[in-house]
Amino acid sequence: MTKRTVVPGEEVAVAEEYMPDAGTYEYDGKILSTLAGELELDKDKMVARVSAANPMNLLKVGDSVFCRVTDVRAAMAICEILGTEGKERGITGETSATIHISKLSSEYVQEVGREMRPNDLVRAKVIQTSPSVQLSTQEPHFGVVKALCRKCRAPMARQGKSLRCEPCERVENRKLADDYGDIDF
Ligand SMILES: [Zn+2]
Repeated sequence: MTKRTVVPGEEVAVAEEYMPDAGTYEYDGKILSTLAGELELDKDKMVARVSAANPMNLLKVGDSVFCRVTDVRAAMAICEILGTEGKERGITGETSATIHISKLSSEYVQEVGREMRPNDLVRAKVIQTSPSVQLSTQEPHFGVVKALCRKCRAPMARQGKSLRCEPCERVENRKLADDYGDIDF
């Protein structure tokens, strides 16, 4: 039995040799995966099946991920992980993670909402994957990489340690990544 990780649409076998089973389908003589997960080629039954990977198992401690802040609470920022930095493939399924106030910055954080706001794009480091995904933005390379003005929704420009919206003449505070504004999404 052969096992390996596959992505949706990936050719996993030829229809002459294998029948599609759970998580696969036949198209044009090929067996393709419908899921991101683990491929199993069962040579006895001549079937190809793919079981969905728990996306959190694909994350490793130390990974650098991009995420979107979805909510800000008193003691944490809640994020949706969009993908792992340097990898094309996205993360599917449950992708919720949290940044605890103590892991947000190397400096003292009085209020999470002064460092991150909903819809900010953040680069964070995975510091725990189970039972929940925990992220850190303490190091200089981690933090907000893109933020929109709360008033006019325009991307904000870096101004020293803060962000500025030129049209609104507003300044907002963030825990910024050292390359804020340099990343295209
Ligand atoms: Zn503005």
